[in-house]
Amino acid sequence: MNTLHALKPRYDVVIIGARCAGAATALLLARAGCKVLVIDRSAYGSDTLSTHALMRMGVVQLERWGLLPTVMAAGTPAIHMTTFHYGRESISVRIKPEHGVGHLCAPRRTVLDRILIDAARSAGADVRHGVTLCELQRDVDNRVVGAWLENGDGGRVGVRCDVLIGADGLQSAVARLVEAESYVQGMGVSGCVYGYFQNVERDGSHWHFVENAAAGVIPTNDGQHCIFASVPRSAFTATFRGDIERAFLQVLEANSAKLSADVARARLIGRLHAFAGVPGHIRQSHGPGWALVGDAGYFKDPLTAHGITDALRDAELLSGAIVDGRPGALAAYQHQRDGLSRDLFQITDSIASFRWSLDEVKALHAQLSAAMRAECERMAGIAVPAYHAA
Ligand SMILES: Cc1cc2nc3c(=O)[nH]c(=O)nc-3n(C[C@H](O)[C@H](O)[C@H](O)COP(=O)(O)OP(=O)(O)OC[C@H]3O[C@@H](n4cnc5c(N)ncnc54)[C@H](O)[C@@H]3O)c2cc1C
Repeated sequence: MNTLHALKPRYDVVIIGARCAGAATALLLARAGCKVLVIDRSAYGSDTLSTHALMRMGVVQLERWGLLPTVMAAGTPAIHMTTFHYGRESISVRIKPEHGVGHLCAPRRTVLDRILIDAARSAGADVRHGVTLCELQRDVDNRVVGAWLENGDGGRVGVRCDVLIGADGLQSAVARLVEAESYVQGMGVSGCVYGYFQNVERDGSHWHFVENAAAGVIPTNDGQHCIFASVPRSAFTATFRGDIERAFLQVLEANSAKLSADVARARLIGRLHAFAGVPGHIRQSHGPGWALVGDAGYFKDPLTAHGITDALRDAELLSGAIVDGRPGALAAYQHQRDGLSRDLFQITDSIASFRWSLDEVKALHAQLSAAMRAECERMAGIAVPAYHAA
């Protein structure tokens, strides 16, 4: 199939990247009546590196957009309790109904990204997978006015647009091509290994912390649990070189003997996945004719599991700014995003540094929880246009 077939020569918005940031932005802009093209070089429904946990603001966004019932109907377990383990001390927190949602969840990306992009397509967005951005088009004033796109068969097509959005992840080609400057750089970096396990008996999600290691147990689709083992990036290679399954169990054992015994008895589905760690960044996320959303503009260490929530939140803010269309609206988007993100970024950076005692990491989690509550409250104060609901 020619994935470039019958593209229009001009769109209001072209979005590069069709996962949580790009698909959600396409959905909201298409619902607002914009002519949207969203492309991704990966295949429809494919998986990506992630441990899936959504924080409350992410679940609230899905609920606001009318997509939470679809996510839950796909067999995503509702998470009503989250437990933090600091060495031998355990603290369980019941998820209270707030901001219109009574639980958290952790949908597989094969579920969440597909639901978002299907909703974008239903709202009228032109969606193309198997298509890669190769170059930007610019006018004589250097404003971005379009893109050159390629498919895997050597086909190449140019499209024009008013705004081009980079939702193309951590290694964003759009950010590189527009030379978006990083003005905040992370220092604390964790690496992790994770896998999916059947037959794990656990209530809710669990987050374990001991000196120089962490682990987590997150219930996800198909009756499976995503289980991860984290260490500081500086220790990643030495820890996981060689027999990765053995090293994985050893990091779990360091966190909790019960956890490693449970996992040793459970069945690993597929193979373990590894992420060696990348420092966080906050980047310039708008310029003449372009904007960035999701990891392309703002990435922080996955140890606090807030990247998908950020992507969904910032899709709401960016689409609002584009629909607003006034001069300064994109600058206001970046300002709003940064205001919502700075505390979360700094706390995450400290947690991912692993330079803490157990009492200190407990205090960092209390700060994280307060920052996430503030995030929900500030977002609740931002009027959501009626067309953003299904
Ligand atoms: C190991 C790990 C665990 C994580 N766990 C969690 C978690 O538990 N909870 C959480 O909230 N977050 C987690 N995150 C973070 C989360 O996965 C990201 O924040 C999120 O995926 C960002 O979404 P995005 O849409 O911005 O980018 P991505 O999901 O990276 O999607 C970008 C898309 O752009 C496409 N693309 C890139 N370049 C091009 C191009 N040139 N042309 C066309 N398409 C292109 C790619 O194919 C990709 O599909 C984790 C991350 C990692 C690495």
